[in-house]
Amino acid sequence: MNNSLDVLIIGAGPIGLACGIEAQKNQLSYQILEKGCLVNSLYNYPMNMTFFSTADKLEIGGVPFISHNNKPTRSEALEYYRRVTTSWNLNVNLYEGVSDIKKGDVFEITSEKHSYKAKNLIIATGFYDLPFLLNVPGENLPKVKHYYDEPHPYFGQKIIVVGAANSAVDVALETYRKGAEVTMVVREPEINPRVKYWVRPDIENRIKESSIKAYFESNITEIRETEVDIRTPSGSTTLANDFVLAMTGYQPDFTFLQSLGITIGTDEMKTPTHNAETMESNIKGIFLAGVICGGLQTNKWFIENSRVHAEVIIKQILKNQQ
Ligand code: FAD
Repeated sequence: MNNSLDVLIIGAGPIGLACGIEAQKNQLSYQILEKGCLVNSLYNYPMNMTFFSTADKLEIGGVPFISHNNKPTRSEALEYYRRVTTSWNLNVNLYEGVSDIKKGDVFEITSEKHSYKAKNLIIATGFYDLPFLLNVPGENLPKVKHYYDEPHPYFGQKIIVVGAANSAVDVALETYRKGAEVTMVVREPEINPRVKYWVRPDIENRIKESSIKAYFESNITEIRETEVDIRTPSGSTTLANDFVLAMTGYQPDFTFLQSLGITIGTDEMKTPTHNAETMESNIKGIFLAGVICGGLQTNKWFIENSRVHAEVIIKQILKNQQ
C-alpha cells in the first residue's frame, strides 16, 4: 500500500472495533489488524461465562444489543460484535498480527501478511494474551492450563485451581459442580476481597464444609504427570493430581509497547504513559485504547467505561490534523 492511512488500529477487540467505527464516521481512512479471530479475547473466555455488565453497556456504534437475560452470555457477545462488524462494514483483517512498526515521516507497519503506512496508530491490544506464569518445573506439561474453557474435561479428575480472584473462584465452583475433585492453592491468606459479592459466600461455604479443599498462603513448587508439590505454612506436601488450572491473571505486552518507544510508568501498576485527556502516548501519533491503558491494573478499564476512548482519540487525531 503506497498511500498512508489516517489511522491503523491494532486489535479487533470491542474497543478496537469502536475506534474503527469512529474513524469511519469521521471519514478517516483506517484499517484494523487482528492477530486472531474477531474479538479474540472474548472468544477465549470460558464458554459458559456471563458478563457482569448489562447488554446496553457493551454496545458500540449505536448498534442495539438485546440479550435473552439482563446480562449477556459470551456467545451472545460474540454474535453481537460480529453483527456490529457487518452492520458497519468495518475494514478488519483477521489472523494478521502486527510484527514490526517503524517510525519515519509516517508509521511503517509490517504484519504477518502485508505492509502498511499510517499517520496514526491506535494500540488496542488488551491484556489477555500473556498469562502470569507460575515459573515452576513442570509448568509446560499439557495438563497445565492458563485458560479455562469448560468443566466437562475435568469430570472425575483431581484438579488444582491456582489463585483466588474472580476467575479462579468461578472455575473452582463450576468444575466442583460438574464432578471434579477440586483443591485451591492460594498465595494469599484468604479469597480475594474483590470476588463478586454474590459469589464470595458460595466459595467460602464450600471451603468451610470441605467440598472444595483450599491451601492458603501456599504455592506450587513442582508439577509432575500425576502429582504436584506445594509449600504450605505447615510444611511441604505432595498431592495426587490430574490437571492444574492456573488462574493467575494476565498482563499487557509491555515489550511491544516499549519497542514502539512508549514508556511504562514506574508505579506499581506499570501504567503505559498516555495523556488521560487525549489518550495519546508519549510518542506523537500513537494512541492507547481500552484495557491496555491500565497496565497491570487490569480491572481499571473494561468495555463499559473504555468504549469512550474511541471518540476521544478520533477527535484528537482530527485536531492534530488541523
Ligand atoms: P481485548 O478485547 O483484549 O482485545 C484486544 C485484541 O487485540 C485481541 O483480539 C487480541 O487478539 C488483539 N491483539 C493483541 N496483540 C495483537 C497484535 N500484535 N496484532 C494484532 N492484534 C493483536 N467488561 C465489561 O465491560 N463488562 C463485563 O461484564 C466484563 N466481563 C468480563 C469477564 C471476564 C471473564 C473477563 C476476562 C473480562 C471481562 N470484561 C468485562 C473486560 C472486557 O472483556 C475487556 O475490558 C475488553 O475485552 C477490553 O477490550 P479491548 O478491546 O481493550 O481488548
